[in-house]
Amino acid sequence: MRSLPPPIPGAQGQWCLRKKLERRGVKTFGHFHCHSCDNRWTSAHAWAEHGQKCKVCRQKGWIKPWALWANASRQKSRAVPGPPHIANLCQRCTKGLPCSTV
Ligand SMILES: [Zn+2]
Ligand SMILES: [Zn+2]
Repeated sequence: MRSLPPPIPGAQGQWCLRKKLERRGVKTFGHFHCHSCDNRWTSAHAWAEHGQKCKVCRQKGWIKPWALWANASRQKSRAVPGPPHIANLCQRCTKGLPCSTV
């Protein structure tokens, strides 16, 4: 865990296992790992209670982040440049819940 770089250079906080950080309703950064094809990715739109789909193998089922970023401050995370959020690979987006605009 300690070897993981912060999602934004200089960000104050730490990566936590999702099991230890069930921050429901809070969007944060997440690390994902697909066990079917060993694909790994990070997302700025990660939710403890919602998963994403692996865009490599598109296996059934949602993959929940194994690690989530816990901000040290209560500041809202600012928007960061990154790959566009793919709504149809996101469980939350497919449910019609606010996600990338939160
Ligand atoms: Zn996969
Ligand atoms: Zn989404």
